[in-house]
Amino acid sequence: MSNRTIYLDHAATTPTDEEVLREMLPYFSDAFGNASSPHREGRRAVATVDAAREKVAQAIGASPAEIYFTSGGTESDNWAITGVAEAYREKGRHILSSAIEHPAVLKALSRLESRGYEVTYLPVDREGYVSVERAIRAMRNDTVLVTIMTANNEVGSIQPIREIFSAAHERGIVTHTDAVQAIGAIPIDVKALGADLLSLSAHKFYGPKGVGALYLRKGIKIKGLIVGGEQERSLRAGTYNTPAIVGLGAAIERATASLEENAARLLDLKTRFITGLKEIPFTAVNGGSNALAGTVNVTFSGVRNSELLFALDREGIAASSGSACSSGSIEPSHVLTAMGLTKEEVGSSVRFSFGKENTVEDVTATLDAIKGILSRLREGKDLFLQKKSNRYEG
Ligand SMILES: *Cc1c(COP(=O)(O)O)cnc(C)c1O
Repeated sequence: MSNRTIYLDHAATTPTDEEVLREMLPYFSDAFGNASSPHREGRRAVATVDAAREKVAQAIGASPAEIYFTSGGTESDNWAITGVAEAYREKGRHILSSAIEHPAVLKALSRLESRGYEVTYLPVDREGYVSVERAIRAMRNDTVLVTIMTANNEVGSIQPIREIFSAAHERGIVTHTDAVQAIGAIPIDVKALGADLLSLSAHKFYGPKGVGALYLRKGIKIKGLIVGGEQERSLRAGTYNTPAIVGLGAAIERATASLEENAARLLDLKTRFITGLKEIPFTAVNGGSNALAGTVNVTFSGVRNSELLFALDREGIAASSGSACSSGSIEPSHVLTAMGLTKEEVGSSVRFSFGKENTVEDVTATLDAIKGILSRLREGKDLFLQKKSNRYEG
């Protein structure tokens, strides 16, 4: 057992950068003003929040007036979907989405379904991509919103949203994307993507938890979700979490500045990892080539993912199944299921998501640990595995 954790769960959350934390700290104490107060401390807080707003806007090619601070990706997704659905209620009640969205999107949609909206969930192919043609065919006269994620959190697949959103705009349909996994990982420009709304969350790119933003293109209507004070042009009430907002601004600035360098490093780690995995029998990597550089989803046939994760954890390696985990048991991934994996394959799949503090040594140590654990967990299963090895090389 090693004393240092090899953290390979960056798609779940990342540590806050020390630099980012340092920028946040004064706003808990010396500069604690409420941005809604009519005095110098209040004005200072407004200036601070607006500086962060400028950084978020800059990072995604938006203007500051189009950025609304929220409590994170979940709130941004909930707000975008319910807020647009309600604002365009008279125009139609149909929404187009995909089967592999994050629960923050899927559960907001199912709540709308119970209120009389209709949702089409586009299927994905074996590699986890929605089809542009299918998406276009599913657009209707009463479609008011298309919401499709930029990149998936379980397998990293980057979706063809540019093409889909352009077709949506030709039909006057509003477009939203959950870009929570994409920010800091791939270049994001809201205009180039054709996104009318975009969700992001600081803790996925080395910022603090509990803060995010919703980009809302000028001219797009939305109904507020959280009501009360007049913050955020009366669309999102609540006293500003100034330290967290400062952290978001600092983190997104750093993430976009180091994006290329970081992505190249992650791709190198991922390539080494996949090369090593190929030597392990009955092991398959899920997903396609147009994917996030840091995310690898792997099926280890004949092994339960919960057992593998537990054994890895004991050796100081933190990975995840990528899907919801409650009271020790792992729920079958809706993403892998939508990709056509069998129930058994889904239950044997693990997500490894690399981050900027990982090294080549981490990859080697993880591969060694996996080999050792698999030889124990798969003991006596060789014949069984060979019989069903049609999908697995090795
Ligand atoms: C993490 C995540 C969210 C939720 O963001 P929070 O800030 O944790 O609420 C939403 N969508 C995707 C794709 C995510 O990875």
